[in-house]
Amino acid sequence: MGFKEDADFARFLSMGVHAADAITRDLEDNHGHNIIELERYAKANKVWQTKVKRMRLPDLMCVTCGRRFESKGKTKLEIKLSDSTLPGRSWRDGGMRLDDVFAFARVDMKTSPVSVSNLVYVTRRSLENALESSKEGNRKSVSEGSEMDRRWPMWAPDYSGEVLTVDHGVKKIRVTKGAGTYLYGSGSRWSAFYTLAAGTPFETGQPVAFCFRMADSITCAGDGSWSWQEDLLSTDDDIRFPAVKAARFLGTEQVEEILIRIAKDEANDWRIRLEAHASLAATRPASVAALRTLAEGADSADEVRMEAVFSLSEIDTEEAADALYSVAGKTEPSIPEEIRAAAAWGLGAGARQAPSKLMRLVNDPSVLVATHAAAVMPTELPRTCLDELLDWLRADDLRQAATAAHLLAERNLVAELVSALQTAPEGVRKLIILALGDTPREAVSGLLNELDAESRAGIATLWAKNDDWLRQPDTDGILGALKLQKLRR
Ligand SMILES: [Zn+2]
Repeated sequence: MGFKEDADFARFLSMGVHAADAITRDLEDNHGHNIIELERYAKANKVWQTKVKRMRLPDLMCVTCGRRFESKGKTKLEIKLSDSTLPGRSWRDGGMRLDDVFAFARVDMKTSPVSVSNLVYVTRRSLENALESSKEGNRKSVSEGSEMDRRWPMWAPDYSGEVLTVDHGVKKIRVTKGAGTYLYGSGSRWSAFYTLAAGTPFETGQPVAFCFRMADSITCAGDGSWSWQEDLLSTDDDIRFPAVKAARFLGTEQVEEILIRIAKDEANDWRIRLEAHASLAATRPASVAALRTLAEGADSADEVRMEAVFSLSEIDTEEAADALYSVAGKTEPSIPEEIRAAAAWGLGAGARQAPSKLMRLVNDPSVLVATHAAAVMPTELPRTCLDELLDWLRADDLRQAATAAHLLAERNLVAELVSALQTAPEGVRKLIILALGDTPREAVSGLLNELDAESRAGIATLWAKNDDWLRQPDTDGILGALKLQKLRR
């Protein structure tokens, strides 16, 4: 995939991220849970081509009670899960125990900020009990393992109102609708009928009648309700993995021996061993070293390298940043570019930011590594980095000068760019003018009289882009795109 397709896909992933984030906040603020990402990257939209085959586990978990939550966000609120006839791929697989909770939300990406509403919590047990009322839909080809959707019907009117009467005998519910009332009768086809109680007001889009029992209490069971230290000793990876992951939030000192044993036992799944190191790494440099070896060792598989890099990115220590920097710059043994790029990304978007290390990577010969490093440079640049960028504008290397001009222009550091013009070599001057043309007109106009006539004319020409209707965000490139569609034989 190219970077434009990645950006489109990232927008799609954002919907799930917004849902997971809103659900996390609701579970923490209103229900007392202490939520972590059980599935790494459940709350991030960065697109990577190197796929890591992770354990099939829900995306969120509470480290206090151990309850797991699978969050789902869609434009339209639906109780819908993907299902399959393949062993281990049905809707109920994936580490959801009977009392674990599916959380659904409606996500409106058109508002700013994005709004998430109509949260619905339902346990796996409730969905099992309502299986008879569920419907299969969109069965894909057998070659895809008979992948399909399974939907549990409910009624969520697109207006607000109040429940007037509920007749459980005939499974009908009457609500107010504007000045009148409306009788919903399709629930008679469901094997069980649940509704809001009579007298309850409801909002637009809120489920009013449903074929399953909504989770009536999702309150955290509190301290002591999850014996995570016992789970560390389980022989079942579904039980052990979440405990290994939670250990870093609950205190590794008390279980350090057990984690070290898990990390060292070659009979264990690589993901559990890696996660044990990741839990130890914040306080144990030997585990950082182990992760670094996994990331850059000659015999590591790419998915292992990638997961090790992600883990290192979560650790806020100097050793972890050093390890990432080493991976990012490593060309021998040959580490795939994207894994080096992920390491660079971790130095800016991860737990320990290291702008001076990123400065060494923004001119990497690999475009992938250099752009990832540049994209995660902090908005506020430390003085040393700023001085170095200005040095690059005085030297004759056009690649590093272009990098510097972009990094400064993105931050609207217009005065710095203008003053660099005085000392820049000829080729670099043109790059600076191009960069100034990208900055807001009002930021530059006050400084124009410091410039010579030629530079002023150059910038004025670039600003003419605003007057060109075919260079606006919604039209730029449109003619080229249409010309590509003229093939007709
Ligand atoms: Zn909890």
